[in-house]
Amino acid sequence: MQGFLFEENEQNTSQQKSPASASAELQSLFDTSKSCSKCTLAETRLTFVFGEGNPAANLVVIGEAPGAEEDASGRPFVGRSGQLLDKILQAAGFQREEVYICNILKCRPPGNRNPLHDEIINCMPWLLRQLQILQPKIILMLGKVAANTLLENSLSLGTMRGRLIKWNGYDCFITYHPAALLRNPNWKRGCWEDIQVMMQHYASMFDRAQYTEKREKP
Ligand code: SF4
Repeated sequence: MQGFLFEENEQNTSQQKSPASASAELQSLFDTSKSCSKCTLAETRLTFVFGEGNPAANLVVIGEAPGAEEDASGRPFVGRSGQLLDKILQAAGFQREEVYICNILKCRPPGNRNPLHDEIINCMPWLLRQLQILQPKIILMLGKVAANTLLENSLSLGTMRGRLIKWNGYDCFITYHPAALLRNPNWKRGCWEDIQVMMQHYASMFDRAQYTEKREKP
């Protein structure tokens, strides 16, 4: 198993979750947050993109922000990037419905620019509350921007990906954003290596019998 890059800065002391109560709490959080206007992205969004998936998910996938298709649909990771993410998850042994998928920002930055500091500060409480409800065993961060934002660093993706990183008490792994893989297919091999490291850790946590290294690359 890969070594630790960062010191654990907070223990995740949450108790065992109930799927029904997690689902109800997520719905309540959605109802509270869906009309959020804490930053200027509320003025330009078409749709608030809360996140979706299994309220009892052990794996939570986090990207940086909705894109145009997500803004139009209200769903995270749809379109070509979403289809590739689905393939990556399937190669790791997950159906999309088994995991929970969300972004740091819940509203689309115009032109898909990177999130601004004030947008992150204002939006982060929604994500942190989501994670508090979901209590994931593993978090997969997609892309350098998401990882730099959550880990509050400016390290390169190559420095962070493919190894266990502790963040807020969660076991986290980092790999390429699917949109980057679409632009640079040669990076798919590295992504698959990252996912294998994550799944080896997952298997060690859950003795996941159906996981084997024979799964095909995405
Ligand atoms: S990006 Fe986040 S903080 Fe800004 S309006 Fe949307 S939900 Fe609120």
